[in-house]
Amino acid sequence: MDVPEPVLWDTVLEERKASIITKGKQKKHLKCDIDSVAGCVSQRACVYCGARVVLNPVTDAIHLVHGPIGCASYTWDIRGSLSSGSELYRNSFSTDLKEQDVIFGGENKLARAIDELVAKYPAKVVFVYATCIVGVIGDDLEAVCKAAAKKHNIEVIPVQSSGFAGNKAAGYRAACDALLRLIQPGELSSAPRVNTINYLGDFNLAGEFWIIKNYLKQVGIEVNVAFTGDSNYKALKNATRASLNVIQCAGSMIYLAQRMKELYQIPYLNISFLGLEDTATSLRKIAAHFGDESIMARVEELIERETAKVKPVLDWYRQRLQGKKAAIYVGGGFKAISLIKQFREIGIDVVMIGTQTGRKEEYQTINDLVDEGTVILDDANPSELEKFMLEKGAHLLVGGVKERPLAYKLGIAFIDHNHDRKHPLSGFVGAVNLAKEVYSTLCSPVWQYV
Ligand code: SF4
Repeated sequence: MDVPEPVLWDTVLEERKASIITKGKQKKHLKCDIDSVAGCVSQRACVYCGARVVLNPVTDAIHLVHGPIGCASYTWDIRGSLSSGSELYRNSFSTDLKEQDVIFGGENKLARAIDELVAKYPAKVVFVYATCIVGVIGDDLEAVCKAAAKKHNIEVIPVQSSGFAGNKAAGYRAACDALLRLIQPGELSSAPRVNTINYLGDFNLAGEFWIIKNYLKQVGIEVNVAFTGDSNYKALKNATRASLNVIQCAGSMIYLAQRMKELYQIPYLNISFLGLEDTATSLRKIAAHFGDESIMARVEELIERETAKVKPVLDWYRQRLQGKKAAIYVGGGFKAISLIKQFREIGIDVVMIGTQTGRKEEYQTINDLVDEGTVILDDANPSELEKFMLEKGAHLLVGGVKERPLAYKLGIAFIDHNHDRKHPLSGFVGAVNLAKEVYSTLCSPVWQYV
């Protein structure tokens, strides 16, 4: 696995060097939150993908992709958010635009598709996603959706997510704009209820939202609605009844939280339910916000009870994983920050860490948390990931579906912390699941044969 140094260093383009730092060796700040460098194979996804990630978990909505059929392949199956009710969201509908539509316009086809879907499925809301080609040919999504909404007397909401118009972060914003249109309170909306939260930035992957909802219920806090895991039209319509918004994935939801604060005076808190330390801190933070002594006492009881259950198991894993090195490359900053602490809990050092859409303040926290010598990078490409994983001697890569082949080709263990997972990684139970997965992949006998 020894690759000569000059070959590896050549893999970093001059324009990319300001987005990569090594803690202790260079200045603290890296360049982030900017467009990808032309010519680099960015690991970021497109605008449409970002919008789909956020909106697709709305379970009883019709999700209609206005574009060529290929875009519609990004669907429920590659995220796996779970529902306790409707299963309509698991369908991926598409207008399947062809050459003729590109030449003559796709508006009529879109209007017909909405008519057909609404006749077949009794939904109260349709999300219509714009894709690259729709942005190019200039179909008026707003007008078609407005006419369809009037005709069918339901909400038809355009999502301005043409793939080329930015990166995944712009898609998050497009999705939040669509949600803001949906949650506008009507005249009969009731006032916010005490000790009630909205849980933003959780998509109920493998049932993660249900775990956190259950913790909160045990301490006397009600979850009004999650944005958007296991959510539905009716619950989202009542979103302004919460007295606090808590944000798990800030990258996707901070904009929505800020707008809800401006429009509806709902305050917000950043939290994270990944790992023991952050789960306990987040529960305490929410309880402290409400200032209710009985809630605070119940939070302490819950933390003590749940920690006692999982601590011996994590200790067992820590003894076996001590000294291993992890590389992390995930979508947003909140996850990266929690993972540094979570790996420490099981004895693993983080030697390389990066995100697709992290913000300046998140990178500052990352820099404060990691050890000297850790490489921190924003919007990396595969050759950079390869270079730094090899240079730092990482035994494990944590990433998403696009990073998996890279790890396996290098003979490095891999964990999907994004799309393709069947077990929850949130809360106390999630901390054990992560440790178990890390152990099974890192200590697998397969690495003896690579
Ligand atoms: S980049 Fe464009 S064509 Fe590709 S999936 Fe995104 S919207 Fe569709």
